[in-house]
Amino acid sequence: MTATNGNGTQPKSIRAPNPPLEDSVFKMFRMDGKTVIITGGSGGIGYEIARGLAEAGANIAIWYNSSKQASKLAATIAKDFNVKTAVYQVPVENHDAVESAVEKVIQDFGRLDVMIANAGIPTKAGGLDDKIEDWNRVRAIDFDGAYYCARAAGQVFRKQGYGNCIFTASMSGHAANVPQEQACYNACKAGVIHLTKSLAVEWAKWGGRVNCVSPGYIDTAISADCTFEMKEEWFSLTPLKRDADPRELKAIYLYLASDASTYTTGSDMVVDGGYTCR
Ligand code: NAP
Repeated sequence: MTATNGNGTQPKSIRAPNPPLEDSVFKMFRMDGKTVIITGGSGGIGYEIARGLAEAGANIAIWYNSSKQASKLAATIAKDFNVKTAVYQVPVENHDAVESAVEKVIQDFGRLDVMIANAGIPTKAGGLDDKIEDWNRVRAIDFDGAYYCARAAGQVFRKQGYGNCIFTASMSGHAANVPQEQACYNACKAGVIHLTKSLAVEWAKWGGRVNCVSPGYIDTAISADCTFEMKEEWFSLTPLKRDADPRELKAIYLYLASDASTYTTGSDMVVDGGYTCR
């Protein structure tokens, strides 16, 4: 709609132009030819995100830290979906390593469209008797690492005038979920949620988008050591009375990564079986 001012002339608007859009909603979700970095890409959630995006046509750079399976998983994705994949060993708490790996991905793939900063550890830290070294390690990976990945990719995105970052936060950034005591993890994930909102405002100036996903309990290696009793307590506090298969997160990451979400930025997508709505 065109507005006019008092003397009938058309005032200069600050309104940004709408992006080109597909009419078909399924086409909006396509990722053909785009390059996506996924940190923690051979982990439980990361691998399923990678599969979801590859199925939609994206080429995938899997970042891992200590996994022995990363190359095999990347080869499986390439074969299953006929896309290009590659693996990079990148400790996300090392800023220089993150910056170099972003450059390497661009050399190898020719472009970068999406950064998914998903790596994280849940080590108990932040309690009165917990070790300071554990606090520092959890913060370095879960919070500093998330920022380093966004920063390195964001510098590329700003030059391009487009690009999009997705963090894996957690419902633990919303609630101090029990019975496990993990104050540092919870605080880092709350920090990631606010980092999402803050960067979304800054990046919007040049066309970048930033969002996060806050999963509830997802059945991956991260909770493999948790006891039966602990999990029973989780289920009793979750309205859907279960944890999730990581495949139940694929669609939300695809939405955020694709042009289906061109007007979504600064959002925190909570996928937690209802845990935090009680
Ligand atoms: P996971 O299977 O244990 O995956 C964790 C991933 O983080 C692994 O791929 C691991 O890579 C990577 N990682 C750990 N330390 C790293 C480091 N220093 N540098 C780079 N990568 C590192 O657990 P997940 O459930 O998929 O977790 C993925 C994300 O979801 C985490 O951020 C977690 O906090 C979040 N989350 C999980 C749940 C849940 O219930 N599962 C709920 C909410 C949020 P390597 O294996 O190569 O070392």
